[in-house]
Amino acid sequence: MFDITAVGELLIDFTPAGSNEAGNALFARNPGGAPANVLAAAGRLGCRTAFIGKVGADGFGRFLKATLEQNQICTENLVFSSQVHTTLAFVQLDAHGDRSFAFYRNPGADILLKPEEVKPELLRNTGVLHFGSVSLTDEPSRSATLYAVKTAKEAGAVISYDPNYRAPLWKSEQEAKEQMGAALPLADLVKLSEEEMEMLTGEQDLLTGARRIQALGVTLVLVTLGPKGAFYLLGDAFGTLPTYDVKTVDTNGAGDTFFGAVLFRLKGKALQEIRALPVSELEEIVSFANAAGSMATVKSGAIPAMPTLEEVERCRQTVPLLQANF
Ligand code: ATP
Repeated sequence: MFDITAVGELLIDFTPAGSNEAGNALFARNPGGAPANVLAAAGRLGCRTAFIGKVGADGFGRFLKATLEQNQICTENLVFSSQVHTTLAFVQLDAHGDRSFAFYRNPGADILLKPEEVKPELLRNTGVLHFGSVSLTDEPSRSATLYAVKTAKEAGAVISYDPNYRAPLWKSEQEAKEQMGAALPLADLVKLSEEEMEMLTGEQDLLTGARRIQALGVTLVLVTLGPKGAFYLLGDAFGTLPTYDVKTVDTNGAGDTFFGAVLFRLKGKALQEIRALPVSELEEIVSFANAAGSMATVKSGAIPAMPTLEEVERCRQTVPLLQANF
């Protein structure tokens, strides 16, 4: 039995890494893909995890499999394509330090995961099934993801969803809104950023937007707010909790670490128990996840920066809350 199984993209993020003697830019090979990041974060804290996805039968695919295994993520349902290469993404920074992505995915192996390649035994043996929206951009991975969600839900798993928006992967913003929005009613737990909430609900106000998502049948809505912490809505209870005042160097993976920490704290809980969580316990969980998210920003890279349980507890005991004046 796994605590969390995630389905979705697994790819290489090439991030800027200085330049060579000739002045040409260098890029570093980093494991990427939000669903696997969530597993790595929850696994570091103490969850048993498994990944479902597809990579190319190439050096990058083998590197990604090794990375999952180093993080104790079960790779029994990681499929290798002999036809198509592992998906690559190049991250570039503009003059203001803002990130943009160029994807090499025409197609990449992640999109080619088929429903019949997803092992139903895995989906019937997991407490949580987690998915995102990058595997919803194209077929057949969209059908494979939705098959995994449906099968796990029928078997009683709690469904968690992170609608991550990556503009270059969609034909249009309208298509992204439709497909990302269509998956919301399938989920029990949803975590998104303020921008994604506004995009999907048309609301700027946190509570109004979160209530729209709740009205679709979502039990717990979480909105991550970077240095402003995180907002939660469960039943009639809602609030914003501050994060911790750490020395941030790289925020990559903070959102995935936050969600992985929430899933760790909800480990073993059935949906009815989550619905009935006392506000004090829920706030304790969100605050724990804020600490985990903040700790993920003090080192570079996503997976290498994810904290252990001891590091999160130490952060909560020793680091002051970030009293943001926003
Ligand atoms: P991504 O998708 O890039 O991983 P996200 O937009 O979903 O991220 P953020 O809101 O950036 O997620 O970060 C998640 C959590 O990490 C926040 O709710 C907060 O607790 C913590 N965090 C993020 N940035 C900072 C920061 N600068 N200082 C302290 N904590 C932070």
